[in-house]
Amino acid sequence: MHSANPIDEAKRVMTICNACRYCEGFCAVFPAMELRRTFSAEDMKYMANLCHNCRACYYACQYAPPHEFDLNVSKTFSALRLETYKEFAGYELVKIFFNKNTAFMLLAFLLSLFFYFFSLYFL
Ligand code: SF4
Ligand code: SF4
Repeated sequence: MHSANPIDEAKRVMTICNACRYCEGFCAVFPAMELRRTFSAEDMKYMANLCHNCRACYYACQYAPPHEFDLNVSKTFSALRLETYKEFAGYELVKIFFNKNTAFMLLAFLLSLFFYFFSLYFL
C-alpha cells in the first residue's frame, strides 16, 4: 500500500527491492540497501541522495506499474530528495525557493525579459 509520506514510501519500496535485488548492479543505491534489513528515516535520506535518477531500475522492474506493487524507485527517491534539499538547505530563503520554485523561475524569466527590452531600447 502506497504511503503519502516520502520516508514511509521509500521504506516500502526498499523493502520490496531488498527481497528482489535484481537491480543490485545498477547503481550505489542497491549495494547500500543490501547492507540493511530494516530502514531508518536517515537511511532513506542517504539512499535517496545516492540515486541519480537514471531510471534504469524503473525500466527493468517487474513490479513497476501496472503491477499492483506500483514500484517506482526513481520517482520515490526524487520526491524524498526534494524533502532533504529543503531540510538541509540551512537558510530559510533557500527553503522558500525550493517550495516556490515555479514562482521564482517565472520571476527570473520576467526580469530577464524586462532587462532584455530595456537594453534594446534604452542602451
Ligand atoms: S526496482 Fe524492481 S527489479 Fe529492481 S530491485 Fe527493486 S523490485 Fe527488483
Ligand atoms: S534511478 Fe536511482 S535507484 Fe534507480 S538505478 Fe538509477 S540511480 Fe539507481
